[in-house]
Formats: sequence, structure tokens, C-alpha cells
Amino acid sequence: MSKELVFGHQSPDTDAIVAAKAYSYLQNQLGYDTEAVALGEPNAETAFVLNYFDEPTPRIIKTAKDEVDSVMLVDHNEFQQSVSDIKDLTITHVVDHHRISNFRTDQPLYYRAEPVGCCSTILTEMFDENKIDIPVQLAGLMLSAIISDTLLLKSPTTTDKDRIAVKTLAEIADIDYEKYGIEMLKAGTNVAAKSDQELIDSDAKSFTMGGKNVRIDQINVVDFEDIDKRQDDIKNAMATEAQDKNYDLFLVLVTNVLNSDSRLIVVGDPVEAVEKAFNNKLSQDATMSLPGVVSRKKQVVPPLNEALS
Ligand code: MN
Ligand code: MN
Repeated sequence: MSKELVFGHQSPDTDAIVAAKAYSYLQNQLGYDTEAVALGEPNAETAFVLNYFDEPTPRIIKTAKDEVDSVMLVDHNEFQQSVSDIKDLTITHVVDHHRISNFRTDQPLYYRAEPVGCCSTILTEMFDENKIDIPVQLAGLMLSAIISDTLLLKSPTTTDKDRIAVKTLAEIADIDYEKYGIEMLKAGTNVAAKSDQELIDSDAKSFTMGGKNVRIDQINVVDFEDIDKRQDDIKNAMATEAQDKNYDLFLVLVTNVLNSDSRLIVVGDPVEAVEKAFNNKLSQDATMSLPGVVSRKKQVVPPLNEALS
């Protein structure tokens, strides 16, 4: 069997990097020859996690066709979020917890999708199904991914399966997950250390909605004030990027991870669709407060998609 690469989405978050490592480990135990790689640098939170559990950062790739014919996707399936030459590769496996909107392949494949809070939750189940033990360090990483994706089990994307997986993994890793989780989330919110460009890039995803190119970024903070003083600069960076990359609409969701609220910064058109999606008016400074909203996947993408379609 020839070697395959395993990776999560571009602008990787903790789950994208950890799920690739976990799935690669599992598949290698089951006889495949795989390597976990990443489609971008780890963000501050992921760097904290890798350092905490003393695990190496995966190699970063831009293209895959030059080294393999086949790949396995985790934590994403939309081609515009994947490796740049995904259309020239054979996808043999997908493990994901996102919508399926434009996925197609020429060959049959293994595809595991579950509407749970984190890809690493599905992988926790798959280790169990295959009777493979999760190594201690890997359990710590997978626990971190679930805490990250579900904001310590508080996001509305959280399911009972995520809660069970957190308990299982915390036991294996021997971690007080609530205490560790707050420390980890805080480590990921250091916005002062990031440039405006890094802020609008580091957790951004592209979507096609009703024929529009929509870019949605999420910035975690522990205090909205961290963003307030830079809001005009951030908006300028968004406008420039939207023009360069042909985004019709660029949204930045600023999420307070401690009290589970968000604020939306909006650049582009149609603004009316954004207002309709959230049943709220944009204020003078092109922002909108979204109390209780923390999940891009569950609370932003679906209403926006409906409003634009
Ligand atoms: Mn992700
Ligand atoms: Mn995920």
C-alpha cells in the first residue's frame, strides 16, 4: 500500500491538527502507511497544546500531488478549505463533523460523518470500535481539540458523545479538564501578539452561499476591549483582503470565550442578508452584537446560507 497523507483544513485550528495526528496514528495501527500533515502553521492555542503534551508539530504542506496519489481528510470536506491540488488527488477516507455541500469523488471511499461537536470525538469512538488504545499524550491532544471546538462543552454544537469523550480522554491523560481547558482557551486568545492580517486569517474559512463567495473568520477573546481599539484597522484589512481574493462578504466573528457571546464585524455585500440572517440591524460601525452565539458552524453558517440562497 502506498503512503497517504492525512490532514485537516487550511488555517488549521486545534481539531484540524490533532484529528490528523489521531487518525494517522489509528490508520497506521490498522496497517495503513500514513503521515499526518497540516495545511498551515498551528495557531497560538494549538502551539500551547502541542507544547503542553510535548508533541511535535506536523510538517506543513502547500500541495500533496508531488508526494502522494491518495489522501485522507479530517475535520473538513469542502474542497476550497482543503489542500490546493485536492482535485488531482484520490480521497480514500473522510472523517468529519461539518456540512456536506459540494463534495464529490470519482472513486468509492470511506466517509464517516457525525453531527457532533468535534472530529476528535468521532475518532475517540473509532479507537474504541477498533479496540486500539489511545496513547496518553494523544489523549491529551484529543481532549484539547474537543475543549477547543466546543468551548469547554458550552457551544450548542456539544453533544452527549462529546461529553463522554472528554471524560474518557481526561481519564487517560489524567487531566483536570476544566482547569486545563480555561488555561488552554486563554492561551489561544492572545490577540495583542497578532497583526491585523493574522487576526483575519488565522481561523478563516471560505464558503459558497447562494452563488456568493463568503469568508468567515473567528477570533476568540477574553474581553471585547482587546478588539475595540483595533476595529477600524481590522476592517481595513478585511476590505483589502476581500478585494484581493474576490470575497463578496467577509465576516469576522469575535467570540468572548469566557461568557459565550459574540460580536460580528461585516465587510461587503449584501448587508441585508446578514441582517436578515440574524434578525438584527448592523450598527453604524458595521458591527452586530450576537448574544449567545459562539458556533460558526451551527449559529452563523446555516442562517446566513438561508438568507443568501
Ligand atoms: Mn476545525
Ligand atoms: Mn472540528
